[in-house]
This record gives sequence, C-alpha cells and structure tokens, in this order.
Amino acid sequence: MSAPAVDCRGISVRFMSERRTVTALEDVSFSVEPGGFTSLLGPSGCGKSTLLRVVADLIAPSEGHISVLGTSPAEARRGRSLGFVFQDAALLPWRTVEDNVRLMLPPARRGTDLGPLFAELDLAEARTRFPQELSLGMERRVALARALAVEPDLLVLDEPLVSLDDMTAARLRRLIAAAAAVRGVTVLMVTHNVREALEMADRLILLAPRPTRVIGEERLDRPRGDRPAVWIDSIRADLARRYPGTISED
Ligand code: ADP
Ligand code: MG
Repeated sequence: MSAPAVDCRGISVRFMSERRTVTALEDVSFSVEPGGFTSLLGPSGCGKSTLLRVVADLIAPSEGHISVLGTSPAEARRGRSLGFVFQDAALLPWRTVEDNVRLMLPPARRGTDLGPLFAELDLAEARTRFPQELSLGMERRVALARALAVEPDLLVLDEPLVSLDDMTAARLRRLIAAAAAVRGVTVLMVTHNVREALEMADRLILLAPRPTRVIGEERLDRPRGDRPAVWIDSIRADLARRYPGTISED
C-alpha cells in the first residue's frame, strides 16, 4: 500500500501570549489516503485553519508527528508536491494575475505555457489584470490556479467557497471537482459548511469545538454527480443527531 497523503499523529498546537495560552488543537490524529477528496468539517474557530497550516508547513505543531506525501511537510512544500489555497488569497498586488501564478513555479519551469490552466479555470481574460481589478470569485480562481500550477500531488483548500454568492460558489465547486478529478490529485478541504462538504467530499473527518480533536469519520459512497438535495438533507440531519456540537440542525 502507498504511504498516506497526510498522516497526523497526536498533533497539538498551542498559541502562547504573555497573558494566556490558547490550545487550538489537542491530540489530533487522522490519515488521508491518496487520491480521495477528504473534508475536515468543524465549527468556526475550532482550529481548522491551524490544522491546515501545520499540513502546509506554515506552523510547527507543539506536539505530535505529521507526514505529508511520505515525507515532512517542509520537504513536501520544498518539492512543490503540495498546493494550497488559504482563505486570504494573498496575491501580490503589483503583479499581474499571470505573474502571480508563474512565480509559484520552480525557476526551471517558469517558461511553462500556462494557457491551458488559465483556460481551464476560465481566467484567459484575466491574465493581464492586477489583483485589485478582480472580483472575489476570480480571485479565488487565481488562488486555485496558483495552487494547481505546481502540479501538486496534494491540494489543500481552506474554505475555498466562503463569502461567495450561491451561483459563484456553485461554479467554483464544479471547477474544483473537475480539476481534482482530471488530475487524480488528493484533496484535503476544510470547511464549516456541511452542505459544501456533503456535495464535494467522499470522506468526512469531523472535528469537535476547541480544543479540537477528531470525533468521527464518515464515508460518502454516493457518486458526487448524483447527490440530490433530499439526500444531502437526510445525511445532514443524521450527522446533526450524531455530532450535535459540530453540526447544527438548520
Ligand atoms: P478555524 O479555522 O476553525 O475557524 P483557527 O484555526 O483559525 O479556527 O483558530 C483556532 C483558534 O486558535 C482560535 O481560537 C483562534 O483565535 C486561535 N488562533 C489561531 N491563530 C492564532 C495565532 N496566530 N495566535 C493566537 N491564537 C490563534
Ligand atoms: Mg479558518
């Protein structure tokens, strides 16, 4: 069997300030098999972004061990086998969309033709624009283009659809699903939106409120293209019964 795409064992993260210590994560363990679409689902403030930052090597855990694609998060990031989209797109404002994406590439590949990627994400018209000229939906697609440009084996997404209107969110959801399927990339997506997770994921990892730990795992075997609203509503109601602190009824 191949190594898990992500393997977290006993991860804790504590933020310390002069006045107090916030335990964001407490003994979090889970593993993500290669190839699937896993969603980490938990209430706002429970530590989801913190967990993704650990995976993406942006913060080191206070305790525990993590491997990413069979190596350390730092090594995975250096090897550009990891693509990530965080809530704040953080595009360089003085660079065009095209340059923002190209700068993610290793020097030897900076000359790559990005045309197909921009076309795939419906960004052909946006290539010469600057970040401040983009709508929120476009900005998210550029952030996704940056993550995909490196041809990652693992794509890490932090609430990619948050604050988008319904139509824009639905469109981006389809783009993400198609981009992941065509590449066979492993996806780890964080969200507090149950519906979003039930529409996109084939596996859910449920997190408790702070200090966050894993309280359950669920498989969603129904094919993604065949998940009518009634099915989503019934799964959601079932999850709300079983994980009341994590999933609300409404
Ligand atoms: P989520 O993404 O689930 O909404 P976060 O991971 O952003 O949650 O935050 C989890 C908790 O850790 C929150 O209480 C937040 O205030 C705290 N936190 C996050 N980052 C820091 C930081 N750099 N310093 C201090 N506290 C932090
Ligand atoms: Mg967050």
